[in-house]
Amino acid sequence: MRYLVLSDLHANLHALEAVLAAAPATAYDRVVILGDLVGYGAHPNEVVERVRALDPLAVIRGNHDKVACGIESPDEFNAIARQAVMWTHRRLAAANQEYLRSLEVGPRPVGDRFEICHGSPADEDEYIFDGADAAIAFEALTCPVCLFGHTHLAVAFVRGRHRREARLPDEGDVTVVTFEPDCLYLINPGAVGQPRDGDPRAAFAILDDEAGEIELRRVVYPIDAAQQAIREAGLPPVLASRLAVGR
Ligand code: ZN
Repeated sequence: MRYLVLSDLHANLHALEAVLAAAPATAYDRVVILGDLVGYGAHPNEVVERVRALDPLAVIRGNHDKVACGIESPDEFNAIARQAVMWTHRRLAAANQEYLRSLEVGPRPVGDRFEICHGSPADEDEYIFDGADAAIAFEALTCPVCLFGHTHLAVAFVRGRHRREARLPDEGDVTVVTFEPDCLYLINPGAVGQPRDGDPRAAFAILDDEAGEIELRRVVYPIDAAQQAIREAGLPPVLASRLAVGR
């Protein structure tokens, strides 16, 4: 099976549409989503509805999803994230809030080879930024491969008997990571809707569990249109400007 892997869409409809154009339905069998469908961007209803139309195999809830649908309070958020998530909460249709409330808690196994989560397999709200964070997360793995999001940074942490490395994507459009039988993997596909690794292109991945590999991919999208929508919505302007630099 080939899985389209999407994380941290953050209500960026322009980025999501570019990803779905770059990965047409013939490129994968099922869709899995690692959370944060909404928050920051100007199109929460449209993104939730686009996701629902994909009929995903699994959708894990993210921290922004939880606050936007009222499961959690925004107390832990910084001022800008809080402003955006409260705007999102007011803007989201009741049916879409209901959908966000129904999302699964990670980690969740997919097939017999990998699992998905939002933050870390140990804790849905934990961040995996570096090798030290990954070392803790590796202890919580129940499958050889775990896909996670939350940091908005594309990376593949690899752990073998004599090997510990963090592989970053190449500058091109596609970086292929091949799964070796005696290694464990923690992989973040990067963010569809708000990349923070200095590459403003939308990030996503396609995992092929029979071939034993994942493609980390990037695609350009009309950033100016997403920025304009954020400004017109009255969201904090920094949420528009950061899209251009991918930070
Ligand atoms: Zn996020």
